[in-house]
Amino acid sequence: MKSMNEYIDEAEQVLLHTYNRFPVVFDHGSGVNLYDINGKEYLDFCAGIAVFALGYDNKEYNDALKSQIDKIIHTSNLFYSVPAIEAAEALTKAAGMDRVFFTNSGAEAIEGAIKAARKYAYSKDGGTDHEIVAMDHSFHGRTMGALSVTGKKAYREPFEPMIGNVRYAEFNDYGSLLSQVTDKTCAVIMETIQGEGGIYPADPDYLKSVRKLCDEKDILLILDEIQCGMGRSGSMFAYEAYGVKPDIVTVAKAVGCGVPVGAFMMTQKVADKSLVPGDHGSTYGGNPLVCAAVCEVLRQFEDKKILDNVKKTGEYLYSRLEEVKTRHGCILGHRGRGLIQGLEFDESVKAGDVCRKAIENGLIIITAGTNVIRFIPPLIITDDDVDKMIGILEDSLQGINS
Ligand SMILES: *Cc1c(COP(=O)(O)O)cnc(C)c1O
Repeated sequence: MKSMNEYIDEAEQVLLHTYNRFPVVFDHGSGVNLYDINGKEYLDFCAGIAVFALGYDNKEYNDALKSQIDKIIHTSNLFYSVPAIEAAEALTKAAGMDRVFFTNSGAEAIEGAIKAARKYAYSKDGGTDHEIVAMDHSFHGRTMGALSVTGKKAYREPFEPMIGNVRYAEFNDYGSLLSQVTDKTCAVIMETIQGEGGIYPADPDYLKSVRKLCDEKDILLILDEIQCGMGRSGSMFAYEAYGVKPDIVTVAKAVGCGVPVGAFMMTQKVADKSLVPGDHGSTYGGNPLVCAAVCEVLRQFEDKKILDNVKKTGEYLYSRLEEVKTRHGCILGHRGRGLIQGLEFDESVKAGDVCRKAIENGLIIITAGTNVIRFIPPLIITDDDVDKMIGILEDSLQGINS
């Protein structure tokens, strides 16, 4: 068998170098643990970037996919399929939405959401000069449309021009939003809890004010729940805890727990004036295989009372991270809720170094934003897993400085 370093050298010869990967080649997973090709065990507080919510080697999930593979994997969207119909019913019900379009990724869900919003405005007044207000420090994906509403200039600049008529506001600053809204604004897009940007939840009063403004001006509120949705924050969708309902919502990541699937959903009010035959499509989007996964994921969420576990374990994680914060002067802040939390470090510590050290020590954690490490484990973790993680985290911090 090749060594890990041999595989890594080989990878760097052939994969386009768009990621600085950690030097680990994974082989398999079980529950909340991953194993590399040498058999070393890692406690996983990354979950494939908030994807693998129900744990690895989940027998019922694997069986559901295997049995769908033996039936049919793909039909195209020119026909109906039972998994797609069932997934659509279950997902719209979970989100409180009326209509869904399945995509192959998060970025594609954002593309669809942008098109749906522009079409809605176009249907109302026939204009093609509508504007979208997006947030600073937001992240919505890497395709040209999603990038155009992503609030990190460095991600956009080499690829300009972006799609036009996008303005940026400070997140959680209502005055800043007001200053960007014009007569041409058709949509406001934001993450309910900013993920990549550094784990910043929307302030409750802010989000309520945004909803009110959108209602008054018939502006569509697009909430990107690709990372914070699907139970991660402690409610099925983070907006539920705010008592706010978006007009359009995007999901991906955990919705299929590992198969490439995302979705944008909308209310009937939007659907009535939005995308019609000819406006949008996808060859793979929502094929029977990925929709079988969505159905099984939603079934297990209910069956295993995943939300209860996220609330309970999320609170425990919160209290343990607060303790870590008091013990280490280099930690400036602690944010988030449920199983999406972050620790922000001062300049004496590089978040990336903490992650590298932790991975050496058998704990997978990743960074977010400026000097933040984020905790986005599988949603099935227990208090014991949290304790184990805290132990490795503190050892890793010791190994770095402070
Ligand atoms: C990951 C992410 C995306 C992009 O999803 P991809 O599947 O990588 O295209 C969009 N929005 C948010 C909030 C995300 O976390």
